[in-house]
Amino acid sequence: IENERQVEEIIGHLKANRVRIMRGGVFKPRSSPYAFRGLGVEGLKMWHKQARQIGIKIISEVMQVSQIAEMFDYVDVFQVGARNTQNFNLLDELGKVDKPVMIKRGISGTIEELLYSAEYVFSAGNEKLILCERGIRTYEKASRNTMDINAIPILKEKTHLPVVADPSHGIGIRDFIEPVALAAVMAGVDGIIYETHGKPEEAASDGQQTLDFDESSKLIDRLRKCFELRNSY
Ligand code: PEP
Ligand code: MN
Repeated sequence: IENERQVEEIIGHLKANRVRIMRGGVFKPRSSPYAFRGLGVEGLKMWHKQARQIGIKIISEVMQVSQIAEMFDYVDVFQVGARNTQNFNLLDELGKVDKPVMIKRGISGTIEELLYSAEYVFSAGNEKLILCERGIRTYEKASRNTMDINAIPILKEKTHLPVVADPSHGIGIRDFIEPVALAAVMAGVDGIIYETHGKPEEAASDGQQTLDFDESSKLIDRLRKCFELRNSY
């Protein structure tokens, strides 16, 4: 989330494509402390005000315990990012909250570790969980991360929880978001999250893995076709 106009553009794009949930960051866990770190809770309030007018739901990353209360009234789903998958205090506290939590797989996390992270939230009392495969760090350098398609059927088999995939972080290359996203659908995910922006080359974060609105509309269309095909057999 960068500014009011950008939020307005994205919401317009989502509405035109009948997408009902928007993921954005106001607390951004950047690898470099000098990169754009987000607008904070004021940005979240501005985003919430716009999203509510259109009826779009919000998912946003929470990085520390104190932010849970600050964000509570303005999000529909809390996201736990890859860098916080094993922040066990945060998971414990999210277990006491009456709102869904989406947990991303850790940067070098195993499937078992992701499941244990989910168990922290679950065993503390919150059963509204979503798991997210977002690629893991391997020896491969041709892509940002290595999308672990294998994790999808394994997670679906081991749990009853919804599983989503994040091809933007999974491969990290704008031109290849689509094939990875479609593969994840055929592998069994319940949803896809990806990054979009009116002008990806000017995005404050992750522009190299961000689709413009034309690419995004095309992807949504193909995703729907893939879900339909998969659900038909
Ligand atoms: C994000 O969702 O923008 C993000 C920071 O992802 P991850 O935690 O998977 O790196
Ligand atoms: Mn990102």
